[in-house]
Amino acid sequence: MDHTATLLILHLGEVIECLSNDEKRSLILFSKWGCDGSLQIEYKMKFDHECDSDANIFQSSVVPLQLVYGPEKKILWQDPTPSSLRYCRPKRIRFIKETSDITNEEINYFKSQITAISRTEIEDISIKHKMLFTMVDGKACNAATHTKSTMRCYICDATSSEFNDLIKKRASKEENLNFGLFLLHARIRFFLEFITCSI
Ligand SMILES: [Zn+2]
Repeated sequence: MDHTATLLILHLGEVIECLSNDEKRSLILFSKWGCDGSLQIEYKMKFDHECDSDANIFQSSVVPLQLVYGPEKKILWQDPTPSSLRYCRPKRIRFIKETSDITNEEINYFKSQITAISRTEIEDISIKHKMLFTMVDGKACNAATHTKSTMRCYICDATSSEFNDLIKKRASKEENLNFGLFLLHARIRFFLEFITCSI
């Protein structure tokens, strides 16, 4: 993160110089992070050890999103292509198959790294890092929320057979709302409102 922040400051050059001393000490860099596994074709070249394999890759990465300053969090720099791999910074690549245990291990490893992260100090500039765990697909989301089945809603634990019961109220796990709305969860909420209104 120090390297990323240093390059950003270098890139911004004169823009940084226009800031007051207080503003220079109030910079916050927002980044998103996440992990995912992938399969690739194995070639015929042999490894020295037969048990080694590069068939599976598991990678975690970080993408810087916004550099803000001051109490009003004014935007100094913004990633013009947040969904592109252009600013993507790979953090750890492992030749290992993606399972929920591996995903959880990676998430815990990453979270422990984030708690240990300190400000980036470059001369009179100080940058605080804020990391958002938002780069998740269905598999990673289910692993992170300890949801065993993809047919189960990670927000309220409802299974596919329960989705049709519109009257039954289910408690939402607030911490899991960070991962966005499960489509069926959103739809049922909407229809429930609709029915109540029409009655
Ligand atoms: Zn739900």
